[in-house]
Amino acid sequence: MRASPDDRAARLQAGAGALGVRLDAGGAARLVAYLDLLYQANRTLNLTRVAPDAALELHGVDSLAGLRVLADPELLVADVGTGGGFPGVALAAARPAWRVTVVDSVQKKVQFVREAVQAAGIANVTAVWGRAEDLGRRPDFRERFDAAVARALAALPVLLELALPLVRPGGRVVAYKGGDVDEEVAASAAALQALGGAVEAVDRFRLPWNGAPRSLVVVRKTGSTPSRYPRRAGIPHRRPLGGPAGAPGRGQAPSAGLPGAPGAAAQAAGLGSTGGLRAGQDDLGARRRQAATRRRRGS
Ligand code: SAH
Repeated sequence: MRASPDDRAARLQAGAGALGVRLDAGGAARLVAYLDLLYQANRTLNLTRVAPDAALELHGVDSLAGLRVLADPELLVADVGTGGGFPGVALAAARPAWRVTVVDSVQKKVQFVREAVQAAGIANVTAVWGRAEDLGRRPDFRERFDAAVARALAALPVLLELALPLVRPGGRVVAYKGGDVDEEVAASAAALQALGGAVEAVDRFRLPWNGAPRSLVVVRKTGSTPSRYPRRAGIPHRRPLGGPAGAPGRGQAPSAGLPGAPGAAAQAAGLGSTGGLRAGQDDLGARRRQAATRRRRGS
């Protein structure tokens, strides 16, 4: 049986509270309304593979966890690869004084978010259709944001090339990852050096109800990103910075990344077969297969 909306709002507040995140009743109600719209639309649109009864935790609480490290009362934030709207829309619902721009390369997702935030009374979201690589070169997006967030987008070196160019020097990227991030962080040294960033903190915690481990990797932008980054659309995924061509790791997309990360890490992280982001995984999976084929061919 489905819990009533009021009950879900209260549970959301409790779940956020368990992570040390403040969520008022209005924010909780807006987020519950948005989730309802997501699952209505999901009947026909394929926006998420997270089961409806897991959404409060895997979309709601998990997204809100970013507020553990982004404590600013006002902030201009970009969510890169937002998919069905996470974490960006949840953050916007919880922090009406923020302005959140959510970006995705799939038009129908962007269109859904644009309509649903309006219907749910989340007025501080702008939904933009485009590839992060292209937006990162546009003067109206490049180095304009105080922070960028991303969940289940790509392995950290790739994520950083997509997200850091959008952030002003002195700003932050917050990467939502699963429990196991040490390897990804280590593999990001060259990307950080090239793009102008430094890992400032890794905040590790567990989701309050299913106990799945999570990490928020906080990267501070230390200097302006050189104009050659981001490289053109598709290249960051195909040839991650710091990954020797053909080496393992280049295709290592969000394996350590849950929610939604494909592969074992996502399973271990408690997403099980509901795996957060299958919608995005499909793209990624196809790209990884192509890359593997090219590697076999030695091209
Ligand atoms: N952040 C969401 C969705 C993750 S799936 C969540 O955690 O639930 C990854 C999403 O990133 C997909 O919707 C895909 O369309 C988008 N994406 C992948 N590469 C992108 C790029 N280069 N620019 C913009 N969006 C991208």
